[in-house]
Amino acid sequence: AKNPNGTYTVTLIEGDGIGPEIADAVKDIYAAAEVPIEWEPVDVTPLLIDGKTTLPQPAVDSVNRNKVALKGPLATPVGKGHTSMNLTLRRTFNLFANVRPCKSIVGYETPYENVDTVLIRENTEGEYSGIEHTIVPGVVQSIKLITKPASEKVIRYAFEYAKSVGKPHVLVVHKASIMKLSDGLFVNTAKEVAKEYPDVSLDFELLDNTSLKLTADPNQYKNIVMVMPNLYGDIMSDLSSGLIGGLGLTPSGNMGNVVSIFEAVHGSAPDIAGKGLANPTALLLSSCMMLRHMSLNNYADKIEGAVLKTIASGPENRTGDLKGTASTKHFASQVIANL
Ligand code: ATP
Ligand code: MG
Repeated sequence: AKNPNGTYTVTLIEGDGIGPEIADAVKDIYAAAEVPIEWEPVDVTPLLIDGKTTLPQPAVDSVNRNKVALKGPLATPVGKGHTSMNLTLRRTFNLFANVRPCKSIVGYETPYENVDTVLIRENTEGEYSGIEHTIVPGVVQSIKLITKPASEKVIRYAFEYAKSVGKPHVLVVHKASIMKLSDGLFVNTAKEVAKEYPDVSLDFELLDNTSLKLTADPNQYKNIVMVMPNLYGDIMSDLSSGLIGGLGLTPSGNMGNVVSIFEAVHGSAPDIAGKGLANPTALLLSSCMMLRHMSLNNYADKIEGAVLKTIASGPENRTGDLKGTASTKHFASQVIANL
């Protein structure tokens, strides 16, 4: 919602590891671009209540109030009985679809040219249902949960998205040849939903085949919106990032009915955290998705343009993940100069 002074308040979750460094870059660039956004930083350090990982209430209230949040990566404490906070956030706000576009950056060469893919990942269940148990010592079971309502939601979102971006082709990526019931339900749900979208074509492809074809020639996926169960989407989006230059570049949006949270695809990058080396591009491009979602397209275009120009301007202005020598701060200052 718009504030009386014409600005919008957005919840900011800076996150762990490189999170604060890349969030600083976003804040500096937004201030310089005079984006009418007021950040509301919240703490999401997990609370363990009755054995359940829980978000601090002020953070939940902030996201519910503002409806839009920008989020840095959150590390999952290992072996402390916590479920992933990323997962907890997606569940708390029912962020059922994760949209992950992946576009080649002109001026940064990789073995692939003109990559332009979009992948929509089911975000609430599947292999991430978190239902695992030991049956007897040495034998564990992990449940991949697929429900018709969640499948329908993400598939419908994919059809709507395909229509809205003028790529009227949905491709369901699955492994129903092996997971006959679970992926089978996902596939059958897509066939049902498709009846409501006569102007959008629907195809199916096996996950292994998509991996092969996407790496052989990503151009085949240019005018297609891919949709798939949770784990496949996780893997295929890292694969897609690899085609264009890595995790430092790819944005995403977690979409719900009411709330949306935008975040980079990458994790907290503990290996480079605190060193001023992180590439803030992925979070910046995520923030541009957010701006477009808020109908602040002019600001999104301005910031995206400056980011792409900076990357293309040479290795002295690129971070190490892009074979450059720039620090996070130097990169951000160049983006500001290019606004
Ligand atoms: P997490 O457990 O939080 O997912 P991770 O160990 O999986 O963390 P990722 O963040 O997924 O690490 O990163 C994988 C690799 O990519 C690391 O080597 C990391 O340094 C690099 N990387 C990820 N994001 C960035 C970034 N924004 N800038 C530079 N390098 C990055
Ligand atoms: Mg990771």
